[in-house]
Amino acid sequence: MSKKIAIYPGSFDPITNGHLDLIKRASQLFDEVIVGITQNSKKSACLNIDQRLAITSTLLRDIDNIKVMSFNTLLVDFAKAQNAQIILRGLRAVSDFEYEFQLSGMNKHLNPEIETLFMTPAEQYANISSSLVREILSLGGDISHFVPNSVETLLKQQL
Ligand code: ADP
Repeated sequence: MSKKIAIYPGSFDPITNGHLDLIKRASQLFDEVIVGITQNSKKSACLNIDQRLAITSTLLRDIDNIKVMSFNTLLVDFAKAQNAQIILRGLRAVSDFEYEFQLSGMNKHLNPEIETLFMTPAEQYANISSSLVREILSLGGDISHFVPNSVETLLKQQL
């Protein structure tokens, strides 16, 4: 049987405790998990792609079956190039559903061989989003519960 490889794509700007929890749980379910970091053109970036790649790789370096990469092609093409059969997304709330449903439908159309699977967050991380972390930080709020220390330090240096 072929290795089960899952891609977890996102902008991870910044990576949060919610993302990390989901990635670690996924690494126990699949032979390999590839965290695919995108340059999201619709959102104004806080950390650049090299910073996001470096910090995410460092945070996950102890887990053997996790790879961290960036990509700027179509997601299904990136998945195919990595021999991944699965796209993994997180579903936090009903508000995520409509966009995720659309995205998975489009990706299914583009490549029917790649399946999108959803994981829900651990309860304590259900309300964390990168965009709110950026907003709280910009207003001087405490983000220490939402992101690892190294991410907090880097974000504060960016300010
Ligand atoms: P994108 O810019 O593609 O939405 P994000 O970096 O915001 O990417 O998120 C990547 C994926 O992680 C998405 O599927 C998103 O729903 C999911 N996600 C974001 N925050 C959390 C969280 N706290 N718990 C679980 N999944 C999450």
